[in-house]
Amino acid sequence: MTSPTDLAAVLDRAAAGGRITPEEALDVYRSAPLHALGAAADAVRRRRFAGTEHIATYIIERNINYTNVCVTACKFCAFYAAPKDTAKGWSRGLDDILRRCAETVELGGTQIMFQGGHHPDYGVEYYEEHFAAIKREFPQLVIHSLGASEIDHMARVSGVSAEEAIRRIHAAGLDSFAGAGAELLPERPRKAIAPLKESGERWLEIMETAHRLGVESTTTMLMGTGETNAERIEHLRMIRDVQDRTGGFRAFIPYTYQPENNHLKGQTQATLFEYLRMIAIARLFLDNVAHIQGSWLTTGKEVGQLSLHYGADDLGSVMLEENVVSSAGAKHRSNRMELIHLIRAAGRVPAQRATTYEHLVVHDDPANDPVDDHVVSHLSSTAIEGGTAHPELKLLDAR
Ligand code: SF4
Repeated sequence: MTSPTDLAAVLDRAAAGGRITPEEALDVYRSAPLHALGAAADAVRRRRFAGTEHIATYIIERNINYTNVCVTACKFCAFYAAPKDTAKGWSRGLDDILRRCAETVELGGTQIMFQGGHHPDYGVEYYEEHFAAIKREFPQLVIHSLGASEIDHMARVSGVSAEEAIRRIHAAGLDSFAGAGAELLPERPRKAIAPLKESGERWLEIMETAHRLGVESTTTMLMGTGETNAERIEHLRMIRDVQDRTGGFRAFIPYTYQPENNHLKGQTQATLFEYLRMIAIARLFLDNVAHIQGSWLTTGKEVGQLSLHYGADDLGSVMLEENVVSSAGAKHRSNRMELIHLIRAAGRVPAQRATTYEHLVVHDDPANDPVDDHVVSHLSSTAIEGGTAHPELKLLDAR
């Protein structure tokens, strides 16, 4: 293990913009004092965003969960229904999906996250039809959806290559990949929690293909299912290596495993300090990824605020609908006004952003803050008791 003096030297080098090795990253992730780690990460963030370093962003979006039917049965997942479980399984029709898009536009949302199970019948044609219909009706919505796992699955269902699947759904309307399904990329922890998913190498190979075809993405990490610190850093190394070749990852988004209603039964979980350390080490180690997103959804609002001082430049979204992590116990809620307040109380100027991170509205004067309290996270989540009861949603639904 590196001595305290050496840890300080590594942090100083990283803070000054130098690249650190995976071994150094593991040492500082494990052993550097929390505040020193956060201070180094914040220095990197401030330099990367010089001129706009006083700003932290958020987006208004909607997760549209089109089906929970899934053949992959990940052990951490509380959302899916096996195909034979017809009592639990559901799929939304295209009309229902378009109504949800209409509500998103109505509430000022700019992005759709199409997210669902690996349905045994849904091949490339299903996504082509749905993305084309969304773009036809709502060209102003950005479709930032799916990830390499869905590509791998739909390509197999349709009997085509992953490259052809990407080309076709991109042509139909997909703008960028959300990068879900990364989970843990190293082989041991991935097999332990998602034995039927494609390998981490395959996941990255598909994302690399997408980047080569001009389809950018974000990327994620699921923390707290029993992986080691070394495996967390290896996950980051695998991403950094691809990013050196493609530059196609816009952001890195770690989030924490939620313990309810799934096979892992919450036997292991990441602590909030581990989460903050991950935000910081990601900012230091992923020197080639622009944006690091703090998550208030799985860690809570206060930790989300803290993440802005540990290297994060973005606080995620007002998520108008979410059913996946909510099913596993994530019960945090927020609304646009509160998110703006949280960012401001953390000492930053809030800004609503686009999918590509341009600032759409900078809230630099509290007197001009939006006052619409209908822009609420989980407004219509089916995973949360009472989640469909918002009167405004019913009005919209009735159209
Ligand atoms: S995480 Fe996704 S792929 Fe895995 S079981 Fe859940 S819905 Fe299926």
